[in-house]
Amino acid sequence: MFYFDDFYGKKILKSSLLSDYNCFFTTREFVLTSKDRIDLEKTAENNRLFLKEKLNAENIITANQIHSAHTEIINKDNIFYDNTDALISNIADTLFIMNFADCVPIILYDKTTNTGAIVHAGWRGTAQNIAQKTILKMQKELNIKPKNITALIGPAIGKCCFETNADVFNQLIINKQDLSLYEKKNDKYYIDLKLLNYNQLKNAGVENIDICSYCTCCMSDIFFSYRKENGKTARHSAVIKIKRG
Ligand SMILES: [Zn+2]
Repeated sequence: MFYFDDFYGKKILKSSLLSDYNCFFTTREFVLTSKDRIDLEKTAENNRLFLKEKLNAENIITANQIHSAHTEIINKDNIFYDNTDALISNIADTLFIMNFADCVPIILYDKTTNTGAIVHAGWRGTAQNIAQKTILKMQKELNIKPKNITALIGPAIGKCCFETNADVFNQLIINKQDLSLYEKKNDKYYIDLKLLNYNQLKNAGVENIDICSYCTCCMSDIFFSYRKENGKTARHSAVIKIKRG
């Protein structure tokens, strides 16, 4: 179950599945990156300093997200990953974030080994199975068992607002019989990106999944929405700090 919580006076969103971990989603009140909003640059910079101080971390590791299916395991020498849409780490005390405005943010965490990952799954990443690829990489390269992974599918654009044309629909929906995944109205398709990612995680062997019902476009007073704000927006973030085992 998702619930709003307070991070030293700033509103964040957490899940009861990882309530004892530093794994959460930020809101408009706690912007860490501004990207298309120059006016928020200073606020975001101050908030990053605040986050590092409160979580007692030297760096905030992040990536330049490009809607790919490229995943990286964080190494100690690199704090910025170019052209990467999922970051994975099993290094104690590592603090890392990825940034979102409508795309699906996924936090993965294995409590038995203290290994975490953040996935950025927009429609392109979802079509390229980035969530499933991240699980496979954790399994192959770090010996993580999918059944030990807890997954949080965070706030993202919902089926209510993710209107697409046939081109995007055909790339995303393989099984057109599965009417839980989309609705068709006139010539438009309304697609459930969160459910598509949920299915990918299930297929990869993840059993413990919390899925957030909030739509970022409907709730743009709390989260950032690229679609609602016509691209002129900042980002909310998914945050993980790896626990020391
Ligand atoms: Zn909506």
